[in-house]
Amino acid sequence: MNTPRPDLLFLCDHASNAVPPELETLGLPESAFHTHIAYDIGAGALTEALAARFSAPSILGQWSRLVVDLNRGSDDPTVVMRLSDGRIIPRNRDIDRGEIADRIRRYHAPYHAEITAHLEPFRASGQIPVLVSIHSFTPVWRGAARPWHFGILWDRDDRLARPLINRLGRETDFVTGDNEPYDGELENDCLYRHATMNGFPHVLIEVRQDLIADAAGVAMIAARLEPVLRDALAAMGPAQLGFTRALPGPLNEKGEPVMDEKTRTELEAAAFRRLVGHLRARTDVQNIDLMNLAGFCRNCLGDWYREAAAEKGIALEKDDAREIVYGMPPAEWKKRYQKEASPDAAAQFAKSHKTHS
Ligand SMILES: [Zn+2]
Repeated sequence: MNTPRPDLLFLCDHASNAVPPELETLGLPESAFHTHIAYDIGAGALTEALAARFSAPSILGQWSRLVVDLNRGSDDPTVVMRLSDGRIIPRNRDIDRGEIADRIRRYHAPYHAEITAHLEPFRASGQIPVLVSIHSFTPVWRGAARPWHFGILWDRDDRLARPLINRLGRETDFVTGDNEPYDGELENDCLYRHATMNGFPHVLIEVRQDLIADAAGVAMIAARLEPVLRDALAAMGPAQLGFTRALPGPLNEKGEPVMDEKTRTELEAAAFRRLVGHLRARTDVQNIDLMNLAGFCRNCLGDWYREAAAEKGIALEKDDAREIVYGMPPAEWKKRYQKEASPDAAAQFAKSHKTHS
């Protein structure tokens, strides 16, 4: 029996082909709801199979993506699709803003509220969940066969995507796309909203529909994916908060963001500059005391700056990055301001930060 993983959350936005009775069949023939335009074939069953294998919770969308797309922000112009795969959706074709708002309120908001409610105890306790979203894609698109069996989609946070892509690469009978067949960068989509903006590790796994079109296929793919995902989670290491986009800002009365991401980024940079200014002025505060109290110090800030630069392809020397925090070469600061650590502080530091350099 596997250890239960209540910290994992499996999501399937496009699990269902159901239409609420009041919308009838959206003007489409019944048969359309058995095709990929209505839902992600096999994805719901695979999500449940994986959740069972990990003894982890899952949340599945209850309505067809033709009713409302649960993997779009409520402000996204395609949240209600008028066309799908070249086919007009009669009941959506002339939909007005009022009816879109009504669809969001009835069918879109409850799904996201359920995810938010599930994650709230984690947010409140400081525990870090890991979100895994399952989708499926058609083997052929606009006449061209797609070569991938799996697609691993990510935006800026590849903490889980990268080890998963690497691990899938060892399954040599499978071809895995890296942000193929789609790009994982989509503002306000499900993972953006619930994982990226909360700093939680996450990944979106796309599976080619013909592999999971029946129960045997679902069982086979679940059996193959389970050890791969376990290895990728182990390779990622303990889950931590990691923010790859500007932190969420305040909302207005309508629940819309007051500021765009660029403005929020600038405000965060301003707060960082003020922190640096404060640390430069408070030369009496010792790095070892910062480490003992809060687990980080001036050197860490410099190293985080250096790592952020490296992600943009800019190589900085360790001391050059730290100098941005110190306002002088670190050795100079040490000579001027660093006091000898008290035996207590040194002992505490040695005990709790064996790995800190
Ligand atoms: Zn999907």
